[in-house]
Amino acid sequence: MKEKACFLDRDGTLNVEVSYLHEPEKLKLEKYVSEALKLLQDNGFKLIVITNQAGVARGMYEEKDIALVHEKMQEFLKEYGVQIDGFYYCPHHPDFSGKCECRKPGTALLRQAAEDFNIDLSRSYMIGDRLSDIQAGENACCKKSFLVKTGYGIETAASHADYPFNIVENLFEAAEKIISDTE
Ligand SMILES: [Mg+2]
Ligand SMILES: [Zn+2]
Repeated sequence: MKEKACFLDRDGTLNVEVSYLHEPEKLKLEKYVSEALKLLQDNGFKLIVITNQAGVARGMYEEKDIALVHEKMQEFLKEYGVQIDGFYYCPHHPDFSGKCECRKPGTALLRQAAEDFNIDLSRSYMIGDRLSDIQAGENACCKKSFLVKTGYGIETAASHADYPFNIVENLFEAAEKIISDTE
């Protein structure tokens, strides 16, 4: 039996949005994120972060800084008995490093994770605060994608008013909906 996963955008979804976050000391989780991830993990979901980190292509920080931020996030979550199974990031930006397939809404990172963890994409979900997150989930044929109102979520919903988003308050509400969707 293949695994099911929740693909999670990072900035504005898991942690409070900070422009080009790369200092671990500036990392702050959004409310109820630990609880949400615990609920998903306890229900058998792999937790996979999928994040665009164009700050690398822009020369604002390095890949090792990304690793430090992710380490810090694991530390916070460990207190709740949760851990992220995989972190996947796109360090590119089309204007600086050319086109790539991993930058969301591209699906290369989701497909790589699916291969690494034997994940069934059609039983998996994507959660994020930007249209590109939602489209990445749809492009990868995930079961459903949820737009959280944290981060840029409210702005995203307002600027794409005709888009049929599944809008939730935050990651915890997304987690609840996902659990009831799979029951
Ligand atoms: Mg985001
Ligand atoms: Zn990329």
